[in-house]
This record gives sequence, structure tokens and C-alpha cells, in this order.
Amino acid sequence: MARKFLVRTFGCQMNEHDSERIAGLLAAEGMEPVDRVEDADVVVLNTCCIRENADDKLYGNLGHLKALRQSRPDLQIAVGGCLAQKDRGLIQQRAPHVDVVFGTHNVGEVARLLRRSELDGPLMEILEESEQFPSALPARRNLPYAAWVTIQIGCDNSCAFCIVPSVRGREISRPFGEVVAEVEQLAAAGVTEVTLLGQNVNSYGRDVTTGLRRAGAGSAAGQEWLAGPSWVAEGGRRPRPRPLFADLLGAVGAVPGIRRVRFTSPHPKDLRSDVIDAMAATPAVCEHLHLPLQAGSDRVLAAMHRGYTAERYLERLAAARRAVPDLAVTTDLIVGFPGETDEDFERTLEVVAAAEYDSAYTFIFSPRPGTEAAAMDDRFVPGDVVAERFARLKVVVERSALARHRARVGTVEEVLVEGPSRKDPGQLTGRTRQNKLAHFAPPAGGAALEPGALATVEVTGAAPHHLTGRFVELVARPRHRMLIPVAAG
Ligand code: SF4
Repeated sequence: MARKFLVRTFGCQMNEHDSERIAGLLAAEGMEPVDRVEDADVVVLNTCCIRENADDKLYGNLGHLKALRQSRPDLQIAVGGCLAQKDRGLIQQRAPHVDVVFGTHNVGEVARLLRRSELDGPLMEILEESEQFPSALPARRNLPYAAWVTIQIGCDNSCAFCIVPSVRGREISRPFGEVVAEVEQLAAAGVTEVTLLGQNVNSYGRDVTTGLRRAGAGSAAGQEWLAGPSWVAEGGRRPRPRPLFADLLGAVGAVPGIRRVRFTSPHPKDLRSDVIDAMAATPAVCEHLHLPLQAGSDRVLAAMHRGYTAERYLERLAAARRAVPDLAVTTDLIVGFPGETDEDFERTLEVVAAAEYDSAYTFIFSPRPGTEAAAMDDRFVPGDVVAERFARLKVVVERSALARHRARVGTVEEVLVEGPSRKDPGQLTGRTRQNKLAHFAPPAGGAALEPGALATVEVTGAAPHHLTGRFVELVARPRHRMLIPVAAG
């Protein structure tokens, strides 16, 4: 009988995508996925250390698994992801029932490591550099109509609050031709929406074009990376070798069958006019920009090492809004960064109000061990002050979100159907091109709209976090169901 596995994911889309790869690798070994931990022979916890309480979550889960392991000694437990990369041997010290610890750079080894630990007992393997992009591994994707595509791993920035550079390593761009080839394969399988993933997507290609400039685009290393044509930007006194992120947006958006291209996350300091122009010129690129502000005070932005001022941020945002009509903008904000004064926070409120966000992920600063900000404990802001600021920030964010959503009432939007609404199964849920959640009444007469279908919906109501509406017409049926088996004649 086939062994059963369960992958539990904590954290960001990068981790979700790694988990799809882990599931794909285990499925390729002949294992079958299950939903309940009690039914699994192998449990993989894919961890994250960016958000708060990551340790508590991991060790809480491992505590539950310990009891299960005592009753089922053949159960295998593996821990991967950012926390594994950071904590390494500590995990098996605290939880000796963990069989395998693997890092962010050896996701591709998970099946081999599980096999080896069956013979050799508990083991840990952490690589410092990636041997493979996770997207180059087989995947068991969560959705048949939408897919993540990794275009870059690591990060060359050094934001004071962030652990990513130390656990994900330096920034490495995935070969241009390899990204486009994966998107073509996805499109051939019926995927209509792709989200390009990286820690700093709009610096895509810069690591390699710098190397190309030194080595020459015709060099063997250059050709291997490009896996396709190279070209040189026209104009300018010092033409730059390409392709860069703007070129990738254009190429991915031109793949037949791909109707929506998203990307996350760009860094405000690297949002240049070529990327904005590519967004405007590529119809498949959705009218949504997630541009993390983090703070509105220049003093705090400098302490965070973000590399832009509030004024510069707002200028780039204005340029993007001028070029892309109907652009929705979302952001990330941290409240209570060490040393944040009342004046700093007032500035954040002003910038957030000026930016008129469609939504924002707001976080209370919490120190991540190993980061620069964690050592600023003499400047931590008292909890009651942070809580009060956080509540005030949410009011400003929700006010602009509601205003932005109300402005859409009466418009007709294209929605990619996800399925029945969780709160009201009589309604359907989907995402607009602006990435807004839309709940709407299904077509009259009971005609089914399957997940992956594209429909137009008239917006009739607005709330801070979603739109409501009514079905207008079907635009396209899901492409992943279009393969019609041919009867043997
Ligand atoms: S850009 Fe800053 S916040 Fe984003 S991953 Fe890199 S270091 Fe972390």
C-alpha cells in the first residue's frame, strides 16, 4: 500500500510554493497526500521565521506529533524551511523525535533524506547555497488554474528587521528562458494566472547582467544563464545588458493562454520606469501593485535601511498610477520599529493617507533573533504605545480601503472564480484583476461556474476587505478542463 504524506506550511507564498514542490517530490516517490495528520506516514513541517511566534508554532506542532509518534514508531517527521535553516541542530535537540531537518536550499533532497533516515536514523542537512530553483522540481500544485513561478531566490538587501538574507542567502535570478519555459508548460496545462515570486522581484536579472557585463554576453556562463537570447537596452550613454524584470513581464505576459500575470514583491527603491512601462504595455499584467512602505518617517526608513524616503516612494507610486489606469495598490507596514517616536508615527499616518491604499498588511514590530533590529532592545517601544498606534493605523488603512472599494460600485469587473464562498456557500468567490476578493451571486438558472472560470461581475457593494456583486456573463470556461478525451474508434 502506498505511504501517505502531509505537508503543513507556515509563512509566505515562497513557502507555499516550496511546499508544492515538496508534495510533488513525495508524490513522485509513489506516496499519496492526506489531509489529516493521523492518516500520514510522513509529516513535513515547512517553517517560516519571518512572522511572530514561529518557534511557538513549530514546537507546538512537534509536541502534538510526539504523542502520535509514540503510538506509531514508523511515522517519519521532517522539518524544513527558514526556521530549520536558522535553528539547525537546535530543532532535534528540542525535539529528538524529528527524523529529518533540511534547509531552504535543499528542498529538492527531501525524499532522499527521508529514505536515508529510515536506514541511518535522525539526520540534518543544510546547504548554504541553492543547487536548484524550487520551480525546477516536480510540483503538486494547489490550484489547476493559477500557479506560482519562482524567478529569484535570496535577497541582497539588509533591512534591519528581516531575517530573509541570512536564511535565504544572496539574490540569484533564475535563467530567463527557464522561467518562460515553465510558464509555457503551465499554460499548456491550462493555467491562466501566474504569480512571479521573489523577495525583490524587480531587481531580477541584475545579478546576472552585472556578471554578463564582466564576462561578455557571449560567454558560456552567460548563454547558460540566459537559456535564450540576450539583448542590450537601446539608448542611454551606457547601454545595459538585458533581460531584466521588465523584459520578463513582457515575455511571460505574451505566453498564449496566460491571461493574468502578478508578481510579488517589488522593492520601492528598485521600481524603475522600465518596470512601470512594462506593466502598462503588457495587457496580461494585472492592475495591482504590492509596494511595501514599512514606515512613513524618513528617520525610521533610514534606520530600517530601506533605501528610499517617503517622498521618493510617493513619487514612484504616482508614476505607476499615471502609467497604469485603475491601479490598485497594497502595502506592508510595521508599527513600533525600535526608536519610533510619536512624530515618526504621525508621519506614517500621513504617508498612508496620501498613498490611498486598497489594503495593507499591518504588523506590530517583533524582534526576529539574529536581525539588527533585535539588538536595538534599548529602543523598543512600550507595548501599550504600539497597540494604540496599531489601532489608529488600522482606522486610516480601512478608511482608504473602503473609499477605494466604494468607488468601484457600479463597475463591471472580470473575476477569476475560486469556488463557493466559505461563509455563504450559496455565493461564489473570486478575485478581480486588482486582486480584490469578490463575493457574488451565481448565474440565475443554476448554471455552474467552475473554479478557474472567468466571469464578469457587476459590483453592487463594498466593504474594507471585499466587494460584493452579481454575475453578468461568462468570459471563459476553465482551460484545465478543456482536454476532451477522444473515444477510441
Ligand atoms: S528586501 Fe528587505 S524585507 Fe524584503 S526580503 Fe530583502 S531584506 Fe527582507
